[in-house]
Amino acid sequence: MSTAIYIFIFGLIVGSFLNVVIYRLPEGQSIIKPPSHCPQCKTKLKTFDLIPVLSYLAAGGKCRYCGSKISFQYPFVELLTGFFFSFTYLKFGISVELFIMLLLISALIVISYIDYKYMIIPNYITYPGIVIGFLSAIIFNYISIFDSLLGIFIPSLLLLLIAFIFKGGMGMGDVKLAAMLGSFLGFEMTLAGIFVGSLLGSVIGLTLMGFGVLDRKSRIPFGPFICIGTVIIIFFGDVLFDWYLSLFFWLITG
Ligand SMILES: [Zn+2]
Repeated sequence: MSTAIYIFIFGLIVGSFLNVVIYRLPEGQSIIKPPSHCPQCKTKLKTFDLIPVLSYLAAGGKCRYCGSKISFQYPFVELLTGFFFSFTYLKFGISVELFIMLLLISALIVISYIDYKYMIIPNYITYPGIVIGFLSAIIFNYISIFDSLLGIFIPSLLLLLIAFIFKGGMGMGDVKLAAMLGSFLGFEMTLAGIFVGSLLGSVIGLTLMGFGVLDRKSRIPFGPFICIGTVIIIFFGDVLFDWYLSLFFWLITG
């Protein structure tokens, strides 16, 4: 159990790095220079200001130097990463898969936020992601090379087809995201993740339309839903699959 707490703290620290990536990469800024500073008053932050979550709480969600409000995104991404990291540890234990999944989940958090904010899924994450996923399959053999290859091509071709048939909605970023997920997870888990994500996206989209928050012309980014669906499959795929099988047998033997 204590390991889970260390991994949680590690996740908080990684999360604060993911915040920097989310804020700086879409604007074309370096993630190393300049050092962390307040976006309003530009004051360079000290170590005391950079402690995940605690600095935010201690300063009451404001910059300690100029008093301007700090986005809730910072502690939220840190906590989210912390919780996901500890869940991943509880699921996989200390294993090769744990480190691969931590890497993948970090990428999914960044992609979801950037797609949500800017409506793009950056190539500089998906392209290296495809390569890293495929190399991990070759080196660590936690899924077969063949499965990883099928994963790169099948789900992405499917989304490409859908993008062509129903113009708009889905973009090339989603296609590349599917290829990246497939390289890490193989084609079955990736298709399952996309399926769960689409279901979730439709339900939430229709609900928001029902409440008049969105109209038919609003564009909802699909990327975050693919990412959420995939995370659900990573954590609960085996349970969902068992339910599905028992439902299937119940129906045919019924
Ligand atoms: Zn400030």
